[in-house]
Amino acid sequence: MTFPKDGKREVRATLEQHGLSPNKKLGQNFLVDPALLDAIPGDAGVQAGDRVLEVGPGLGGLTRRLLGAGARVLAVEIDHGFVRLLRESLASELNSGALGLVEGDVLASGESLHPEVEDWWKAGPPPRLVANLPYSVSGPFLGRLPGRSLAGAVLLLQREVARKAAAGVGEEGYGPLSIRLALRFSVSLGRKVPADVFWPRPKVESGFLHLNPLGDEKDVEEGILREVLRDAFGQRRKRLLPRLEKSFPEAARRMRELGIPDDARPETVAPSVWWEAAKAVRIPSS
Ligand code: SAM
Repeated sequence: MTFPKDGKREVRATLEQHGLSPNKKLGQNFLVDPALLDAIPGDAGVQAGDRVLEVGPGLGGLTRRLLGAGARVLAVEIDHGFVRLLRESLASELNSGALGLVEGDVLASGESLHPEVEDWWKAGPPPRLVANLPYSVSGPFLGRLPGRSLAGAVLLLQREVARKAAAGVGEEGYGPLSIRLALRFSVSLGRKVPADVFWPRPKVESGFLHLNPLGDEKDVEEGILREVLRDAFGQRRKRLLPRLEKSFPEAARRMRELGIPDDARPETVAPSVWWEAAKAVRIPSS
């Protein structure tokens, strides 16, 4: 089988030929703009030999570019029809070991990723993440990244989710996700992408999100930080510190020491203060 061509007409024809059709629930909006697809590996800084995780390869348009840039790719696809198609169209890359293909949900329970992805992640140097993320997965996937070693990420997603991930203190959308990401990565919005680079056209705006590791590993237990933030942002109508004191007294005390008033709104507190607060929490020994 030759590789399916990009372009709206070609993508539609390939799907028809294989008895497939886009599934809205799985966020199947395919990239059909060859120029954009060609640019992504370079924008993501992919170098020959890099390990790259791609979530949702679909027809493999981006996968093929990543392999063309010399990356060793692990692609995770939930839709059996696409996995079947990729096994045929990328058979030689699968045989050579340049490509690994996992069939299943990239998200596992709790804060985990698919077990095969977890094993792959630990089995080599920090990977890059490059993907046109399915909308339903974007938020939970981003939430699983802080605390993992990562060479960098360039992700195409719903512009609103990208804005939320990159929001600074006081900006709309600033919250647990942006705080946790900001403590580990330099997070920035990349370019906006018009709807007609996809087929079918999504109803929402899309854009790139870039994550680059900060380098200075923050010595805070990710699970504690997540719980402190959940508590603080969960009941915003109550006064912040008296409420936080009930579940995390050391965190509330540290915030007072840092000059945070009792009735501060959690969205006005900087990431570095949340970090100090979480670091102060004593983990009960079992
Ligand atoms: N990479 C292709 C492209 O750019 O044209 C397809 C991207 S499409 C936005 C999202 C892909 O993610 C689809 O192929 C879909 O089946 C897959 N997908 C959706 N949910 C998933 C999940 N939970 N785990 C893994 N793949 C998923």
